[in-house]
Amino acid sequence: MIERKTVLYIEDNPHNRRLVRRTLERRGYDIIEAVDGESGLEMVRELKPPLILLDIGLPKMDGIEVVGHIKADDDLRKIPVIAITASAMHGDRERFLEAGCDDYMSKPIQVLELIDKVNQYYPSATNVYQQQKARAEADKASAQSGGQLLAVAHST
Ligand code: MN
Repeated sequence: MIERKTVLYIEDNPHNRRLVRRTLERRGYDIIEAVDGESGLEMVRELKPPLILLDIGLPKMDGIEVVGHIKADDDLRKIPVIAITASAMHGDRERFLEAGCDDYMSKPIQVLELIDKVNQYYPSATNVYQQQKARAEADKASAQSGGQLLAVAHST
């Protein structure tokens, strides 16, 4: 578990990575970067970052597939994922949200919008604590009832 305020940014474009890094580092965030979908997903599994910024057009594995893997995984699905992409065609926003992204920003990146969204979605210490507590309770209940309650908890 990462202790500091850390954001993982999965993006193949170095200009965007530099912009996001500079902008967020000034606001007290550490930025971890991945340059393709495969290594990005690997870092998500390994580091469980509190927040993910995700480009959609990525080498090796596109962002839609990446977010699909994240949201299909019980250990990862609570992590907020914000898509950042140049794609602005009609219906794209819905497509990204349907794929499991929690929110969506279009490129070119607007600095103020970026800061707003990161502050909005970054889990507060209280939230993280409550999530851990809720999960611990669900696990305990599951152990007592042979797994039935956990299935109910996850479906809500
Ligand atoms: Mn890209």
